[in-house]
Amino acid sequence: MADIIQLLPDHVANQIAAGEVVQRPASVVKELMENAIDADANQVKLIIKEAGKTLIQVIDNGKGMSPTDARLSFERHATSKIRAAEDLFSLHTKGFRGEALASIAAIAHVELKTRQREEELGTQITIEGSEVTAQEVVVTPEGTSVAVKHLFFNIPARRNFLKSNTVELRHIIDEFQRVALAHPDIAFMMYHNGSETFNLPASNYRQRVVNIFGGKTNEKLVPVNEVTEVLKISGFVGKPEFAKKNRNEQFFFVNDRFIKSAYLNHAINSAFEGLIKDGAHPSYFLNLEVDPKTIDINIHPTKTEIKFDDEHTLYAIIRSSVKHSLGQFNIAPVLDFDLDTNLDTPYDYKDKKASTPTIEVDRNFNPFAEEMSTSRQSSSSSSSSSSSSSSSFGGGSFATTSYKKDTGASWESLYVGLESKGTRDEEDFSEVEFESEETTEPLFQDHEVGATQNTYQVHNKYIVSTIKSGMLVIDQHRAHQRILYENLLKSMTVREAVSQQLLFPLELHFSSNEIPILESLKEDLEFTGFVFSQFSEDLVEITGVPVNVPESEVSIILEQLISDVEQEVPDSSFSATDLLAKSIAKSLAIKTGQSLTKLEQEHMVNSLFACKEPSVSPTNRPTFITMSVDDLDKKFM
Ligand code: ADP
Ligand code: MG
Repeated sequence: MADIIQLLPDHVANQIAAGEVVQRPASVVKELMENAIDADANQVKLIIKEAGKTLIQVIDNGKGMSPTDARLSFERHATSKIRAAEDLFSLHTKGFRGEALASIAAIAHVELKTRQREEELGTQITIEGSEVTAQEVVVTPEGTSVAVKHLFFNIPARRNFLKSNTVELRHIIDEFQRVALAHPDIAFMMYHNGSETFNLPASNYRQRVVNIFGGKTNEKLVPVNEVTEVLKISGFVGKPEFAKKNRNEQFFFVNDRFIKSAYLNHAINSAFEGLIKDGAHPSYFLNLEVDPKTIDINIHPTKTEIKFDDEHTLYAIIRSSVKHSLGQFNIAPVLDFDLDTNLDTPYDYKDKKASTPTIEVDRNFNPFAEEMSTSRQSSSSSSSSSSSSSSSFGGGSFATTSYKKDTGASWESLYVGLESKGTRDEEDFSEVEFESEETTEPLFQDHEVGATQNTYQVHNKYIVSTIKSGMLVIDQHRAHQRILYENLLKSMTVREAVSQQLLFPLELHFSSNEIPILESLKEDLEFTGFVFSQFSEDLVEITGVPVNVPESEVSIILEQLISDVEQEVPDSSFSATDLLAKSIAKSLAIKTGQSLTKLEQEHMVNSLFACKEPSVSPTNRPTFITMSVDDLDKKFM
């Protein structure tokens, strides 16, 4: 039989390659603007007509090209930016694949004009569908202008696939903003259908953010600055109260390149956890500087995804830095900022030691005194008269631990003083340490604290417990979700989950669209303790499951997980790890209707308050409410 393999002609290969590089007008905008920056321009102008469907033009004042380079620039794999594969590891330019111009020229009409600084005349080249139709010497300003017309003129299917002008323009503006944010020292302008959309002078970063997002942005911004050995982080986060419904104000740049990272996005979200409402997204504009050797930006053709050598450390640093900033600017209490050289992974409790609450006792307390004042200065406790010594606890509370007011984490103070309730016997006082100085130690630094509270279960749904100011009602299902969620996230981030070996492998059947979902989560699932021995078209074989997960629950968990993933908008910032932890926590959490022993109730209360964010469930619903004696009093009026 005759040979049948042929080399594809260049223009066909270019058209195929173009499919990867150019998905829509915004892709062209990105490539052309990046070329302008790589050419050291300090002024870049973007001109758009009809959302890029008619014209996309980028004019720069960069170094320009020689006539030969101008011609070569449209060849596939023609680049001035790398010479050998090693160069990929010390990359300081945006482009390096040498594909953009070739791809664009394959699917549009392109007109290039360019002049080098020291030359008097420049070059003009016209290309239509990879064919050079003209090359001439022209008078043109220093720098380069690339005009792209009739995008996808020779691929009607692609052209028809384009969205409305509003949508395509939105994409263009997104790209424009990303590039402009990454380079505040370069002036950018954008025009659409003849009118100015953006005019951004060269400025500092804060100004750039404000110029793009509007004057009101200024007051929203909280600076973030941290320098560590592996990473320099700078930029801003938005104050929590300005969190947005959409993710339009979330920007990560790594070495001046916009990137998307669900994992790092999660680091920020977790720094904001408890500060913003469910469904709201914090704004951030953060620049990370890392050694180019430690990243791989080549895993995605359009290069917005990136691989880091040490993602976990970055996660921890970013989370801590953001928390630190929020705390420093009085936006949130600093709960766990501890930036040192052996930065631990998030959700690490190892540094927390048990702390015995200090208790102060008022020896002059007279339970029969008529007047009860509502507050007391701790310094006056040993000298005050009996009439001013009662606390708000009413009947039996004659001893309180003082605590710092106005820490946002008000739950810490809930149990203060409980240990000392009960007896009024003078002799008991000898066992209690006297302490007259105000102490700011929070009580719940350890899992064991608070083990003496009395708890009751109501309707197999709520756990009720007395606290200093009144009572606490915990939703058992939500509380347990919170506890499991934090534990799961912890084991996924430190990757140290313990799994239990199954006696016989478990075979579970799934549909052909469910399998890929599981497969995409396989790695994360393994970090929770799952062990998969086989993935086939419709079957998954499991040989190990996380400890504490009964074998009978496994299929329920995985089904729940698939449906959660399907319901989550498949958008860029989607974090598999977070979703997985939420989903498994939901499946495993004890349900409403389950009766709990006293010990289990106490354990639940203690574990909840050992959590980082005890007050809300993973889906940001309240896990407990408190009712003060005052509230109760009012009910009896
Ligand atoms: P890459 O940017 O990956 O090198 P491109 O196809 O985008 O590939 O560009 C090919 C080459 O053309 C670049 O390496 C650069 O030398 C040159 N070039 C492209 N645009 C410009 C520009 N605006 N100014 C100067 N040179 C340019
Ligand atoms: Mg390029």
